[in-house]
Amino acid sequence: MKVGFVYHPVYLEHDTGQHPENANRLKAIMRYLERTGPWQQLEAITATVAAVPAIALVHDREYIAQIQELAEKDGGKLDADTVVSTGSYKAARYAAGGAINAVEAVMEGQMNSVFALVRPPGHHALARRGMGFCLFNNIAIAARYALQKYGLERIAIIDFDIHHGNGTQDAFYDDPKVLYVSTHQSGHFPGTGKVDETGGGAAVGTNINIPLPAGCGDCEYETVFREIVVPAVRRYKPQLIMVSAGYDAHWADGLATMQVSIGGFAKIAGIIKDLADEVCDGRTVLCLEGGYNLTVLSAAVRATFEALLGIKDIEDKLGQLPLEVEIPDITALVRQIKEIHNLP
Ligand SMILES: [Zn+2]
Repeated sequence: MKVGFVYHPVYLEHDTGQHPENANRLKAIMRYLERTGPWQQLEAITATVAAVPAIALVHDREYIAQIQELAEKDGGKLDADTVVSTGSYKAARYAAGGAINAVEAVMEGQMNSVFALVRPPGHHALARRGMGFCLFNNIAIAARYALQKYGLERIAIIDFDIHHGNGTQDAFYDDPKVLYVSTHQSGHFPGTGKVDETGGGAAVGTNINIPLPAGCGDCEYETVFREIVVPAVRRYKPQLIMVSAGYDAHWADGLATMQVSIGGFAKIAGIIKDLADEVCDGRTVLCLEGGYNLTVLSAAVRATFEALLGIKDIEDKLGQLPLEVEIPDITALVRQIKEIHNLP
């Protein structure tokens, strides 16, 4: 089992100032990983810069040029949340490049799975517009690259960030070569991700949204993975599984109100690993998206690596939410989504 990671210090040069998505996130992850368990078993994959034509597989050339110009003119903001600093264009090109490097390492058989520890994150970025802390859509760029370079016909993207990956959905909405499956908090930013957004044209059925009510925890996430995500991906028979890994569904994360624990994220990663082993010889590429509590983020990324390495017994020092709160009943929602997508 060969598990790798992609990282580059240039990712720290995307300077957002006082912002939840800041360079300390990756610093915390790397510092924690280097000191703990699985570090010795992980292979470092060299991160390189994405060429503009690769970024243009998803984004308009005018938009790419706009980000470059903004960075060169001392930076600015794309919207209230989305910052471009002088280092952002370079960091964002290397982030997309890192996702591509992860795809190459997995598709060329060098690694079974690779986690691209990149920033800025990507899953909200649209073809002509960055938003929600995202400039270029790293996972979408890497997926298009994989389709083109390796002649793949089916890639599944699983997105368990608490926010809906509207950019990724948009990129592949009419493309039957990519199955997009997202769990996210219903009604939360950016507001997309309804159950009836199922894909367009020849791609109807290849977009599966699972908008969850606030307050869902490990048990509800395991249910939707076992009842919807796993059977949908199994039926699709992807040649590669890609994952938008965001850790903002944890109970201690400040940006949303779910109750997943570190153990819950480990369970999700383990389910994805087993699924990849079953359907695509284990080929898995993960890209970091959100997750804003540094303690949670570093522990959750470590737990993800442990699950990818096949380690079953994962320590969760933070445990469960230390409060009794009402857990929503998702039975009807799960039934509705299974009906929409004809899942057994
Ligand atoms: Zn998020």
